[in-house]
Amino acid sequence: MVYQEKPQPKMINIAIDGFSGCGKSTLARDLAKNLGFRFVDSGALYRAMTYLVIRSEGSLFERIERVVHSKPNLTFTIGSNRMLINGKDCESDIRGAEVANNVSEIAKDSKIRDYLKGIQADMIRNKGVVMEGRDIASVIMPKAELKLFITASVTARVDRRYRQLLEGNEKLSKEEIQLNLMTRDEQDINRKTAPLCLVDKAIVIDTTYLSRSEQLKFVLALVNPILKPQELLPLIVKS
Ligand code: C5P
Repeated sequence: MVYQEKPQPKMINIAIDGFSGCGKSTLARDLAKNLGFRFVDSGALYRAMTYLVIRSEGSLFERIERVVHSKPNLTFTIGSNRMLINGKDCESDIRGAEVANNVSEIAKDSKIRDYLKGIQADMIRNKGVVMEGRDIASVIMPKAELKLFITASVTARVDRRYRQLLEGNEKLSKEEIQLNLMTRDEQDINRKTAPLCLVDKAIVIDTTYLSRSEQLKFVLALVNPILKPQELLPLIVKS
């Protein structure tokens, strides 16, 4: 009997895309923690750019030009993943209604997308990343070893976002949340540059009836065979 050499664990990237508010961030965060990977919430980058554009002056075109030209330094705190814009913690600013209501309009702009693409390229170079967003499998990591597309019913998505906002002390009605989610989906699916789409080989997961731990368990069952190819499998050698 001959044994294969023990394979080294593979470093991989995992792309997670899907509609607004269907639990992508929670799943990506849980997955990254479990695997010891880096979690990247790409939506936070778009929110950060939107926050800066809103605070800039002039026409929308001028604002975007100015913000992109200023090359803001966008990073996350280690562990808690809070958004830092030029070193300043802006996590609560980027989660408010003003940014949420404008982000998909700003995210359509190709100058904004190109700038963030550069930042994301640096983040994924060494692999070991779980990144979630809208164009991750299609544009940012087309070679990701695992591609997931997350969805959930509108009611489940609205309820989750409602609870999330309450934790952050912001109160919006469920109707307002639903309108925001639907409007963003519509814009994200229909924009010309890098629209949200289902790529070939992506695995679709409907999280409506899955608890947080069930989602993680399901995805780990997909990841593990990629990460740890069969170890010390006996080979049958033909004479
Ligand atoms: O993920 P989150 O809901 O925070 O994303 C906010 C918005 O940023 C999305 O609705 C979308 O318009 C934009 N976005 C994007 N591409 C990504 C991530 C987010 O266009 N990769």
